[in-house]
Amino acid sequence: MKAAVVGKNKTVEIINNKKLRPLKYGEALLKMECCGVCHTDLHVKNADFGDVTGVILGHEGIGIVTDVAEGVTSLKVGDRASVAWFFQGCGHCEYCNSGNETFCREVKNAGYTIDGAMAEECIVTADYAVKVPDGLDSAAASSITCAGVTTYKAIKKSEIQPGQWLAVYGLGGLGNLALQYAKNVFNAKVIAIDVNDSQLKLAKELGADLTLNPKTDNVDEIIQQQIGGVHAAVVTAVAKSAFNSAVNSVRAAGRIVAVGLPVETMDLSIPRLVLDGIEVVGSLVGTREDLKEAFQFAAEGKVVPKVTMRPLEDINSIFEEMEQGKFTGRMVIDFKHNH
Ligand SMILES: [Zn+2]
Ligand SMILES: [Zn+2]
Repeated sequence: MKAAVVGKNKTVEIINNKKLRPLKYGEALLKMECCGVCHTDLHVKNADFGDVTGVILGHEGIGIVTDVAEGVTSLKVGDRASVAWFFQGCGHCEYCNSGNETFCREVKNAGYTIDGAMAEECIVTADYAVKVPDGLDSAAASSITCAGVTTYKAIKKSEIQPGQWLAVYGLGGLGNLALQYAKNVFNAKVIAIDVNDSQLKLAKELGADLTLNPKTDNVDEIIQQQIGGVHAAVVTAVAKSAFNSAVNSVRAAGRIVAVGLPVETMDLSIPRLVLDGIEVVGSLVGTREDLKEAFQFAAEGKVVPKVTMRPLEDINSIFEEMEQGKFTGRMVIDFKHNH
């Protein structure tokens, strides 16, 4: 089969005759329909998280079950299922057993520590491959598998209530979906913050109640003066300044949920933390249950990812375009149609 494999020197190689091993107990084989390309894949292929030469990339995969091994009860041939970054936990540690399985110390990550979904076929552990509901097309589902569930979970963690104010920092691939979940599922009032006016224009169209650009607006001052501070902030941006602004824009007892991952330290005044009782929490992708919920809301049309289908052969140019910030929305590799 054809597969996109991490090569040497920060490249991705397309291999035409990659062979998969036979299925083991509890596993299922997926014939892939599509697989989204994520910023995380860029880090993986650049060896930013260590050298994983030879591994098949991809953790935003949607495929159709074509075979199941002994012991599989959660999937049957013909089902559509996902391949997510959270590929599998150990199933017996304190994190796995307390609704925090993404923090399992033995976690397997698709397209990084285990072969992923950017291939014509992919082996999954059936109990961990979340089924895709009818009525949600595979390309949209691929975005929900990563960006969708990540932002849905972050908003859950923000504990925002209907009618309360939520600030979303960064309106790119993640923030755009965060905005839709916040407005259409959680019924929050949303302030969209981005340095890029075209992202803010799109945010306005998607229902943002207020849009602010830190290049021209004094964001935290406006939020404190006009709203009295937001109840929570979700930061998908990858700039330290966004995290610092979020700390300043929440009201007392407000919550900052960190999703973006700049490799920096944020400024957090201890009196601000203690005297105003604010909370800062990190949020990492989502559990199988979170993904199931995130899929369902998308199937109901409450969240619509923006996707562009591309052939596998484009993979290296997609990464170049990604590094140059050339596209909005999600690029999705199409395995269903021959190019
Ligand atoms: Zn991803
Ligand atoms: Zn575990």
